[in-house]
Amino acid sequence: NPVFTSEQVSQFPLRAPVVTVMGHVDHGKTSLLDALRNTNIVSHEAGGITQHIGAFRCSFPDSAGGTKYITFIDTPGHAAFSAMRAKGAQCTDIVILVVAADDGVMPQTVEAISHAKAAKVPIIVAVNKIDKSGAEKNLSRVYQELMEHGLVPEPYGGDTTTVLVSALKRLNLDKLLEAIDFQAEILNLKAPVQGRARGVVLEARLHKSMGPIATVLVRMGTLKVGDVVVAGSAFGKVRAMRDPSASELLVSHAHGAQHQDLAECSPSVPCVISGFKELPNAGDIVMVVESEQEAREIAERSKGAIEQRKQYQFDLSKLSSVADGASESMQKKEIPCIVKADVSGSVEAVVGALAKLNHPEITLKVVHAGVGPVSASDIALSEACMADLPAVVIAFNVRVLARSPGVVVRPYRVIYHLVDDMKQHLADFLDPRTEESILGKAAVLEIFNISKKRTNAAAANANVQGRVLVVGCKVVDGMLWGKGKADALYRIYRKGSLLAEGLRVTQLKRFQDDVDKVAKGNECGLLLELDGSGIEPQRDDEVICYELKNVKRTWDEDVVPQSAASVKEELVRKHRAA
Ligand code: GDP
Repeated sequence: NPVFTSEQVSQFPLRAPVVTVMGHVDHGKTSLLDALRNTNIVSHEAGGITQHIGAFRCSFPDSAGGTKYITFIDTPGHAAFSAMRAKGAQCTDIVILVVAADDGVMPQTVEAISHAKAAKVPIIVAVNKIDKSGAEKNLSRVYQELMEHGLVPEPYGGDTTTVLVSALKRLNLDKLLEAIDFQAEILNLKAPVQGRARGVVLEARLHKSMGPIATVLVRMGTLKVGDVVVAGSAFGKVRAMRDPSASELLVSHAHGAQHQDLAECSPSVPCVISGFKELPNAGDIVMVVESEQEAREIAERSKGAIEQRKQYQFDLSKLSSVADGASESMQKKEIPCIVKADVSGSVEAVVGALAKLNHPEITLKVVHAGVGPVSASDIALSEACMADLPAVVIAFNVRVLARSPGVVVRPYRVIYHLVDDMKQHLADFLDPRTEESILGKAAVLEIFNISKKRTNAAAANANVQGRVLVVGCKVVDGMLWGKGKADALYRIYRKGSLLAEGLRVTQLKRFQDDVDKVAKGNECGLLLELDGSGIEPQRDDEVICYELKNVKRTWDEDVVPQSAASVKEELVRKHRAA
């Protein structure tokens, strides 16, 4: 993704806001979108169109006598919203949360709030069905419920804009557009118009005569007819480009409607394009490239990219659990978590229990909690929230209707099972503790300085760059290790104080042989690499062979975690003190 400085961004022209409508089923999302769409379509079909085309634009006059636009994505739904976000293709600037005045906040309303909050997208509440009798009387209850979920309406001193509307009677739609426009001004949305276009595929389908067609939302640059485009594993050359509403008219060509072809398309403007050789997927990033050759290469590479991404997320989680946590230690690891339960009482109980899982290094971050089965939307949200550790979905006494290889779904029936199991699960992602074990001790008898030449072969093999010494010694305890233990390290003490540590032996010699190990009572030669450290072992020094092991941590262990670095620091401190 191109990165722009804030200086550059400030120079870009303003673009129209992109809006997604979310809310509980039957609260009127589809009706609202239809009502908004039809405010602009002056055709015989107005009022009768229900076919979704990915996106459409509403225009309205601005104060200066010009025209302003708002782009609506017209596939309402949380799953689609978060699925796009998971693919890095989030394009929503503002969420309209539809809440039916008579019904109030319902499970999917809460879910929508979680999705929007997780994406850090501002929410405007459209209280719908205000035409219904008794709707007005119910308003304070609706506001109360919104506040319970962190949305404080403006009349109550908060910053959540609420607009009372009726999708059915087309009441206050202008007020809703005004509220969106105002929010967009605050967001100060800008995008470069120059350059090759980049955008998102909102929808794609096979058209009878035009072949694959895709509704594309341009995010930056300008898309033109004749541009070579690639989206996921699909590519092609833009043959025709139309306004999505015009493309709908195309379907009813027989009615004699004129469809207008567009020559180009700028940021926040949706368009339907033909010319793809195969169908792209909704949520794919689409971009213009230099040539068909380049497009083909990118398309090839992105085949199976989604699988790779999941793989990558898992690899990362493994990596971060083994890596020396020095730089991360300041920041708690976060595992995004979604809680679904049978009744609201158990949702609270589960969230409460999880909140008590306190650990200084890792935490579960509940991004959504609600009543009902684990749905595709929950999975999409957890994928979207996931950074480097796999997200967890807790299904408490509910069914699991969707899964994804990247998301851990855990069904439970009993709270304490859940708590124990989550402790275990979190502990799996803790950085391991480093433990040292002493393998053997030896006394130095004699030092042989070997010329580089003689050790050249061995040195080259072992990649030795510095000075090489052979320390002749006698094993007094345990075992000294050579190539038999790749992780064996050496430490040298003189009269009880540490001289050097973390040394690796290049070879362990017994007479002329390179051996794996040498046991107590035997003499041997340690081929040590000392890269200019100035350490001069001498007779009577003590040699310790040791090993550092990563030990898996448990949730409750009382041992203070120590990284390899801190073990070393402590030894150095002891050494200095001595
Ligand atoms: P969705 O599931 O959120 O997309 O909801 P729909 O748009 O399908 O609407 C569900 C039902 O509510 C339909 O029967 C609509 O006719 C009705 N409805 C939607 N908006 C309004 C409204 O403003 N007033 C009234 N009285 N009914 C509405």
